[in-house]
Amino acid sequence: GCKTPQDVMAAISEHGIEMVDIKFTDLFGQWQHFSIPVEHFDAESAFEEGLGFDGSSIRGFKTIESSDMNLLADPTTALIDTMCAVPTLSLVCNVYEPITNEPFSRDPRYVAQRAVEYMKSTGIADTVYMGPEAEFFIFDEVYYHTNQFSAGYGVDSGEGIWNSGAPGLGHQIGYKGGYFPVAPYDTLQDLRTEMVREMLNAGIEVEVHHHEVATAGQCEIDMRFAPLVQMADQVQLYKYIVKNVAKRHGKTATFMPKPLFQDNGSGMHTHQSLWKNGEPLFAGDGYAGLSQLALWYIGGLLKHINSLLAFAAPTTNSYRRLVPGYEAPVVIAYSARNRSAACRIPVYSQSPKAKRIEFRCPDPAANPYLAFAAMLMAGLDGIKNQIDPGDPAEIDLFEEDALKRVPMVKGSLGEVLTELEKDHEFLLEGGVFTEDLIETYISHKRVADVDAVRLRPHPHEFVMYYGI
Ligand code: GLU
Ligand code: MG
Ligand code: MG
Repeated sequence: GCKTPQDVMAAISEHGIEMVDIKFTDLFGQWQHFSIPVEHFDAESAFEEGLGFDGSSIRGFKTIESSDMNLLADPTTALIDTMCAVPTLSLVCNVYEPITNEPFSRDPRYVAQRAVEYMKSTGIADTVYMGPEAEFFIFDEVYYHTNQFSAGYGVDSGEGIWNSGAPGLGHQIGYKGGYFPVAPYDTLQDLRTEMVREMLNAGIEVEVHHHEVATAGQCEIDMRFAPLVQMADQVQLYKYIVKNVAKRHGKTATFMPKPLFQDNGSGMHTHQSLWKNGEPLFAGDGYAGLSQLALWYIGGLLKHINSLLAFAAPTTNSYRRLVPGYEAPVVIAYSARNRSAACRIPVYSQSPKAKRIEFRCPDPAANPYLAFAAMLMAGLDGIKNQIDPGDPAEIDLFEEDALKRVPMVKGSLGEVLTELEKDHEFLLEGGVFTEDLIETYISHKRVADVDAVRLRPHPHEFVMYYGI
């Protein structure tokens, strides 16, 4: 683990590095990169003066009139990028304005850093841990190309592994039957193991990996919780490793939230806890072993839930996942054990140090920097204003009658963008998010996502209506 620019330069010579790869995250959560031959890499540009790039070509960053931007590398993110054929050192960067050298207000990594600074300034906590569980699907490249819209996916395949609907395909996991039969049903053990080894080599602490509930192909690898900014960096690296190891084996990995009609989608449940002076602040003698402070944090998450979804479930496809019946939360409530509530309090362990809340709405399409920052801001708002989360929900929230009695989250990206427009004061506290970032985000999403889908004939409309 490097700490200083000097450490990075030493690692470069020690490991015979030939290329330095410069990475940063755009407003919508994609990693972007360019590479510098080691002969041309110097610590002064990378860590002090800045490495220039054209901000106007990056989604949501700059307009063409003012396009020059700089990157400054964070030495603590240095690692050897084993996805590259030649020895390559990877560095994650923050984005800066040229001339003034101010941090760029729409740099998502900077938003996450500011959220943590703001939390400290309130005196409520000094550390926030995030533990995201990013699920994903592995498909054969051929499958992806022929089934892009899941039009031909067999939906009448029955339940569970013993009754695969595809005739003659013996050892195949049926729909919703993936949690967790052994090989030969689970065909992805070795692939996940290779991903996990790569993650461990890259310094990500992985606790467990397994097949997920959906039919053959859905996987989950769980990272040990870490402080917010470090964890957002790790989510980017996690996705990069998953996709590239899949590619290495002629497969594709997707983090889109709902690739298959009528099967479970992929979530990114995020476990969260606040700490101060090394003490856990979420443990107490309230409901499910929570403290009053944790209950207020939940109150904040639930109060701002629809607005949060604009960052936590940020695609049109996210709302095909957030429907009843697939272990994805739709109900604005909290509960111990109950997986249908937006907020679950895991009760596996009674240790105060393990006490945390699990917010289940996020999916892995989220920009982790913005989603984690927004959730923290909602939780802090809950604590500052002592927002009561109401009574816990102990019923099965997917049961039909229950759904009539409880409030549900909004059902489309368009609606949650409108909610973000109305409800974002809590994000502006401490200058963490800016009006400019929120406006840019909303208007880009309305055009590039909402309208792009809304205005386009859907493949299934041809099935339903072509012969009308
Ligand atoms: N895949 C489910 C979701 O969309 C979650 C399954 C689980 O509880 O891990 O959130
Ligand atoms: Mg899971
Ligand atoms: Mg979970």
